[in-house]
Amino acid sequence: LYLWNYFFVSYASIFDYVNFFGLRKMISSVDQDFIGELRGIVGAKHVVTAAAELEPLLSDWRGRYQGNALCAVYPQSTAEVSAIVQACNRSEVSIVPQGGNTGMCGAATPQGGRQIVLRLDRLNRIRHVSPLDNAMVVGAGCILADLQNAAEEIDRLLPLSLGAEGSCQIGGNIATNAGGTAVLRYGPMRDLVLGLEVVLPNGEVLNDLKRLRKDNTGYALRHLFIGAEGTLGIITAAAIKIFPRPKANAMAMAAMADVDSALRLMALARAELGDRIAAFEVMSESQMALVCEHIPGAARPFNAPHGWYVLIEIDDTLATSNLADQLEGTLGTALEQGIVEDAVVPSSTAQKAALWRLRHSVSEANKIAGVSVSYDSAVPLDEQAAFVAKVSEGISKAFSDARVLFVGHLGDGNIHAIAHFDKDRFSSKEAFEAAADVINRIVDDATVDCDGSISAEHGIGISHRHRLAETIDPVRLALMHRIKALLDPDGLMNPGKVLVPPPAGSTEAPGARRIA
Ligand SMILES: Cc1cc2nc3c(=O)[nH]c(=O)nc-3n(C[C@H](O)[C@H](O)[C@H](O)COP(=O)(O)OP(=O)(O)OC[C@H]3O[C@@H](n4cnc5c(N)ncnc54)[C@H](O)[C@@H]3O)c2cc1C
Repeated sequence: LYLWNYFFVSYASIFDYVNFFGLRKMISSVDQDFIGELRGIVGAKHVVTAAAELEPLLSDWRGRYQGNALCAVYPQSTAEVSAIVQACNRSEVSIVPQGGNTGMCGAATPQGGRQIVLRLDRLNRIRHVSPLDNAMVVGAGCILADLQNAAEEIDRLLPLSLGAEGSCQIGGNIATNAGGTAVLRYGPMRDLVLGLEVVLPNGEVLNDLKRLRKDNTGYALRHLFIGAEGTLGIITAAAIKIFPRPKANAMAMAAMADVDSALRLMALARAELGDRIAAFEVMSESQMALVCEHIPGAARPFNAPHGWYVLIEIDDTLATSNLADQLEGTLGTALEQGIVEDAVVPSSTAQKAALWRLRHSVSEANKIAGVSVSYDSAVPLDEQAAFVAKVSEGISKAFSDARVLFVGHLGDGNIHAIAHFDKDRFSSKEAFEAAADVINRIVDDATVDCDGSISAEHGIGISHRHRLAETIDPVRLALMHRIKALLDPDGLMNPGKVLVPPPAGSTEAPGARRIA
């Protein structure tokens, strides 16, 4: 055992020395001992210190944030996660949980100092599947698409669906309370979680993994960890809801002049199609143009551009429902009433996939096309048109070269406003950030004016922690700080994310008013 450990310590030392001349700082002997302890817990090959393997985990996929970490560690069990957390407590090393690293707000990027990245990839076992309970108990590291497939194998639906589903993990989806395209019918991730297993910041394991629909035994603690972005503990497993699989489905893309028409179409569709509406997605022409320009094979399904587009999908668990006829009927009424200018109803699975691809390619297209500042506002439906007008006008006035794009899950009131610029528009990071500050103010003012929220589904992370502090109820903010201090008094769990750390020695939450 001694020789074995000696070999790995020596092996690690060579690598760290090489890293010193390459990309990373030399690791102190105290940290070498700590890394050795982690190797003892998970096995040497599951602790990554080599720069080439570590680098992709130290930045977010949009390239906005770049940090550093002592290492990345890949546990295989809840017990290993707990042992790692205990080791971190002893050595005062902070922990950045990371799933697929597809998040939007830099929440999974380590910020440097004495931190480790804790990857959940190896907790990828489906522990239990119950078609009778309509529930699955799964490891936090399961890839979302794999779980969708596992549900399909037993004729069930896991409705969470988003562009990153091939690489994001269910633990990350829960930690960010992800939304996606099926929230209208099934709710966000929070509504799909029945129970959780969580390793707390002191290493204790909270077992709240029941598959029950009804459990009225005091505080629903799981909700603290959903959307907490890894700041209160590490989710190691979850019991999630699955649903009867829809047997009939129809979809269409409709084109219209403005967002007001999209809202009128939604009201009509709700009246005529009721609960069958599974998705009601919206996109401005400015956004559609970027997708068509930059994504190979992407094309508008209409002869000419229109102002806005709606992608509507309806489904039913009754195989005999003739949904295509019903949807065409509603679109026909909308055409007659002048709500819609044109509409297409795909007749094959390939055509449906091509329409969904337009929607799912938005993030990729925007990244290829230039730089953007994007927002994740939720606004009540009767304020949507006012919000779009205020944001468009405000950004265009401040930056005449900005393209103002809108894309969103209109059915949920969640609209992403995006200010998009050419790649070389900003000469430095500072110049970009100064522009982003101006745009933040415009969008936040419009959001608050319209009684909305600055983060509908993407979370807060590093990107929006100051905006959160400025825009939410101060009592709510102060309570969040108290919960954080109670569960994680030493601030080891994903520090600096969601909440702006209070200044040293201060007991007051930054941005919050003092509570009497
Ligand atoms: C192309 C694309 C499209 C997207 N579309 C949508 C969309 O429509 N709707 C939407 O809501 N989101 C969308 N997202 C972002 C979405 O939030 C993430 O894709 C996903 O939910 C995060 O999962 P992840 O495993 O990648 O987590 P990561 O990015 O690795 O982590 C995100 C946060 O969760 C924490 N975390 C991760 N795993 C755990 C765990 N096991 N325990 C505790 N904390 C953990 C991290 O510390 C971090 O704070 C999209 C992303 C991309 C790239």
